[in-house]
Amino acid sequence: MRVALLGCGNVGAEVVRLMHEQAADLAARVGAPLELAGVAVRRPGRDRGPLPVDPALFTTDALSLIKADDVDIVVEVVGGIEPARGWLVEALRSGKSVVTANKALLAEDGGSLHDAAVEGGVDLYYEAAVAGAIPLLRPLRESLHGDRITRVTGIVNGTTNYILSAMDATGAGFGDALDQATELGYAEPDPTADVEGFDAAAKAAILASLAFHTRVGAADVYREGITEVSAANVASAKEMGCTIKLLCIATRGPGADGTEAVTVRVHPAMIPRSHPLASVGDAFNAVFVEAEAAGQLMFYGRGAGGAPTASAVLGDVVAVARNRLAGTRAASESTYAHLPIRPMGEVLTRYHISLDVADRAGVLAAVAGVFARHDVSIATVRQSGRADEAVLVIVTHVAPDAALAATVEELRGLDVVRSIASVLRVEGG
Ligand code: NAP
Repeated sequence: MRVALLGCGNVGAEVVRLMHEQAADLAARVGAPLELAGVAVRRPGRDRGPLPVDPALFTTDALSLIKADDVDIVVEVVGGIEPARGWLVEALRSGKSVVTANKALLAEDGGSLHDAAVEGGVDLYYEAAVAGAIPLLRPLRESLHGDRITRVTGIVNGTTNYILSAMDATGAGFGDALDQATELGYAEPDPTADVEGFDAAAKAAILASLAFHTRVGAADVYREGITEVSAANVASAKEMGCTIKLLCIATRGPGADGTEAVTVRVHPAMIPRSHPLASVGDAFNAVFVEAEAAGQLMFYGRGAGGAPTASAVLGDVVAVARNRLAGTRAASESTYAHLPIRPMGEVLTRYHISLDVADRAGVLAAVAGVFARHDVSIATVRQSGRADEAVLVIVTHVAPDAALAATVEELRGLDVVRSIASVLRVEGG
């Protein structure tokens, strides 16, 4: 089995190393040796340390490598939309199986890749694209196909989990925690994709597509990052026995009008410390899957890093190589449900709101009136006095997100409300 490797960075170099170190085992598992046909990179002369690869295999001409007659499998670990999309569509259409870790491309235009795989009669595998080393997509796309998945809740971005865990442990603000993450190599020099939630949103789209048999793209995902999470938010969460996590949440179910639909969102949320996801610290990932018959399942492990990600890539390489040898391919993309995507305003969630208010008679009634006007029911209220000021901490019952957001907006304009110290969604019980 001849493998064309596109990209030899963090992940690609580890793919090369593992293919070399485990050559005998991989050959035994596949039923034929795996051979590198070539390695496409941007800078072939770059010092890559002691990599077990013939320097003559490096090329900048990815397309010619992909088109070579003797290539069976194309492994793409370059990233980004173009030129990766063009390469992979070409590879699939021309009958080469593809393994990719490219979540951005899958979330942006996975449909084109799946269609090309059907056209070429080959496999498209992408286990490494979500939650790195954690076997998650194969369980969703195979093991759970006898069941009905109702909800997927995950921590799928290690950088933001590291930052929020550090804020929780030390009381640091977002900026200091980000600096620490950058120093330790957990955050990229430009952390936008991670801290603004783009990376998690791409993964949420891939998870929702697989879980709900419906094409979901990055543009369908409601997204908020963690840059606005403050030390005060974290302290508020602590007082409630909660911690703050950047969650990706995908659900399937009937809305107010009874129509079955999918919701997909990424945002910071308070979860009780007793929730299984609360104890996921540092840069680890975890995904909590709820299915009607299976009940609750939890997947946990390293969501990034060269070697963990390469482990998932090679697992896919073995699977597609076996299929090719057997003259078969895996079942194609399952999108038969074609469920609509419900907008964020209609998603049912709960808010935790902390208000600085004037400490005088009638304040509570005025605040409660705002909630009532928006049909938002209050679950708990806690009030503590401070000179002529008081702090009101309100947790709501579930309500449509639009009603909750409108409530907060009206509270901002109320004369008895001096400031809104913290607004966070509450998830997980
Ligand atoms: P990386 O370290 O930046 O490596 C990218 C590689 O692609 C480099 O070898 C680079 O060549 C090559 N490349 C870039 N543009 C190219 C072009 N136009 N033509 C040919 N080669 C080109 O990236 P990475 O961290 O390994 O990530 C690769 C993929 O895996 C991405 O899709 C990423 O989202 C995904 N992923 C990564 C992780 C992780 O922990 N790193 C985890 C899960 C998924 P040079 O070496 O010559 O610069």
